[in-house]
Amino acid sequence: MLKVNLRHLEEHDLRLQGELSAAELDLGVQDELIRADQPLRYDLAVELLHDAVLVTGSLVLPLTCECARCLKKFTSELRLAGWALHLPLEGEDKVAVENDCVDLTPFVREDILLDFPRHPLCKPDCGGLKDKTVRKAKAVEKPAQAVWAKLDKLKLK
Ligand SMILES: [Zn+2]
Repeated sequence: MLKVNLRHLEEHDLRLQGELSAAELDLGVQDELIRADQPLRYDLAVELLHDAVLVTGSLVLPLTCECARCLKKFTSELRLAGWALHLPLEGEDKVAVENDCVDLTPFVREDILLDFPRHPLCKPDCGGLKDKTVRKAKAVEKPAQAVWAKLDKLKLK
């Protein structure tokens, strides 16, 4: 679990580095094209402010994806590099504290889900299955031939 011990934090700032397993992160995502079954890596600095806890750092979640257009499998990473979390210790919005500890997991889960890709593509301009074969054929043609091929196509239209 990704927890901050407030008693420790009172003594000094904390640095949290490690991994959160997919089971602990428990994203609950049911997406056929994107699987997040590897652990999330975190590297966080935690400091105690006057009446709040400030967490800053990076979250990296490896993803195994299937391209929505060409169905190619590829790996990707969901990266929140400048992640910041402000947790009030006082007032209405104060964070839940249990045994002097604040569990960061729900906040990490929420922000990862907000950034979770909805439509994975192996590359931004992926043309899908059909287009891909066309592009390959063009690449082996000599430039002049390619021009003639284009003209031929124009004539046909
Ligand atoms: Zn693709």
